[in-house]
Amino acid sequence: MTVMRMSKIYAPTLKEDPSDAELASHRLLLRAGMIRKQASGLYAFLPLGKRVLNKVQRIVTEEMDAIGAQEILMPFVQPADLWHESGRWDDYGPELLRVIDRHQNEFCLGPTHEELITALVRNELKSYKELPCYLYQTQIKFRDEIRPRFGLMRSREFIMKDGYSFHATQESLQQTYDETSDAYGRMCDRMGLEWRAVEADSGQIGGKVTCEFMALADAGEAEIVYCGCGYAADAEAGECVAHPTEYACDAMQKIATPGVHTITELAEFLDIPESSCMKALSGKDADGALVVLFIPGDHELNEIKIQQAVPGFTLLTDDEMVAFGLHKGSMGPVGLPEGARVIADRSLQAVPQWAVGANEDGFHYVGARLGTDFTVDAWEDLCVVAPGDACPACGLPLQGARGIEVSQVFQLGTKYSEAMGATFMAEDGTEQPFIMGCYGVGVTRSLAAIVEQHHDDNGIMWPLSVAPAHLCVIPLTVGDDVVEPAAERLARECAELGFEVVIDDRDERAGVKFADADLIGWPLQVVVGKRGLAEGKVEVKRRRTGEKREVDLSSVGELFAMAHRLMATKGPLAFDGLFD
Ligand code: ATP
Ligand code: MG
Repeated sequence: MTVMRMSKIYAPTLKEDPSDAELASHRLLLRAGMIRKQASGLYAFLPLGKRVLNKVQRIVTEEMDAIGAQEILMPFVQPADLWHESGRWDDYGPELLRVIDRHQNEFCLGPTHEELITALVRNELKSYKELPCYLYQTQIKFRDEIRPRFGLMRSREFIMKDGYSFHATQESLQQTYDETSDAYGRMCDRMGLEWRAVEADSGQIGGKVTCEFMALADAGEAEIVYCGCGYAADAEAGECVAHPTEYACDAMQKIATPGVHTITELAEFLDIPESSCMKALSGKDADGALVVLFIPGDHELNEIKIQQAVPGFTLLTDDEMVAFGLHKGSMGPVGLPEGARVIADRSLQAVPQWAVGANEDGFHYVGARLGTDFTVDAWEDLCVVAPGDACPACGLPLQGARGIEVSQVFQLGTKYSEAMGATFMAEDGTEQPFIMGCYGVGVTRSLAAIVEQHHDDNGIMWPLSVAPAHLCVIPLTVGDDVVEPAAERLARECAELGFEVVIDDRDERAGVKFADADLIGWPLQVVVGKRGLAEGKVEVKRRRTGEKREVDLSSVGELFAMAHRLMATKGPLAFDGLFD
């Protein structure tokens, strides 16, 4: 293996934090000269970043190959016809970037590949005997995100590994789904990610059974809830068992609540917890009919769940509320306009008396009796689950955390195969649609997630498995006849042992080299200086822990041999125990 030379690597490091980079991963990848922004949501990978990307990609590919998936490559540009067949040309929305070629044919830039893969197999994968069939690719995707941000975390162009499986039976799909989930867990482990698999919502893709793999990080955009019993869910998707509390009194009373408009103000005014106040939201269904929702005051409406309960639901504007005769800040179930459909969160079914608006400015009711003073048309799961709610599996209070969605597995069923006429001959001779699964790993987002979990104030601390190189030799001076040859020799020896080695042969001050080495995040640094050499010593530093050791030149070979053994045996963070 050749030794890489810092003087030749195109890695322009930055001393200052870029002003528009909020997240550590964004900031540090820019500062370490690994990525560069070329336009909103579009990033270039420089040599060191590309080395890391290659390693992440290799881990993903190895794990996919190990479960029998076969690598392919489909076009990035996709014909509109196929998207019309699936119905997603109209459903996908503005994230789908549509383009027209010189012959006026419509295309889109692929945000995902269910349509293309289904078209690819539909006339040629014919018999149950050929199933299951599992194909995957690693490719650029484009999604015209409304707010590209956080660097690689939410970009418009990004790299995804997407896999698709075709089955004759649900059992066969389940098996591949489980094997892929296990493989995704191993990928995270090998990348050094601390992760959790959570129940999720299937969003644009379709299907019902789905699970997301979350890298745990405070910077994550996703909120997750979990429990000691093993239950874990994306807060967007999790079932919500809220704990509303009752405001009990003998009979319903109307009270003047001047200036009270919000739940916080009402709770303060009545001196009761927000969970005792009912939050009212008004909207209309797809036909424009009035729908009034009630949820516990300490919870938020879940936008995905309300779409499932009332397809096409939109919240009313202030003008629409007036037109319906509603009073903003004082809505309640007693005395609503004729024909209003009332839907309430299931948890409120257990609360016999409610504290709610009186449909009159400046007034509320307390002790409004369910079934006597008002009725509810339907009970639904409507809220975003929050830490402290009851675990739907065991009832204990849920805990909360934040996560970065790095990958997701879906059971698609026959959504695409039916819509696009992709069928096979079953064992009983009948023609049947394929049962499908799809599985995506955000390769570039994984890279950002790794940095979120592995950095400190000075820079990145790459896990060994994805580091741009394992070890950096830092001669404190260049061009002299003692330090330089000693450093070069050490670097060569390490490379011969099997390490990926960089030598910082730039004519720079020691301080600059140390700062860059920490910023870039080489896992091991070997510092070679005149004073040390005079005593026959070099200094070895572990980036992750900052531990330093003076090591005799006579025994440094042994240390490296040991480091090399640790690299093979101790998982992605390795070099653990090097100095023990
Ligand atoms: P999100 O909810 O974060 O927008 P998604 O659920 O829409 O993502 P999927 O369709 O599940 O994304 O795509 C598979 C993987 O691709 C995601 O788990 C994520 O790692 C990655 N990914 C999706 N959108 C982006 C993006 N804008 N930038 C970088 N990676 C992305
Ligand atoms: Mg997803």
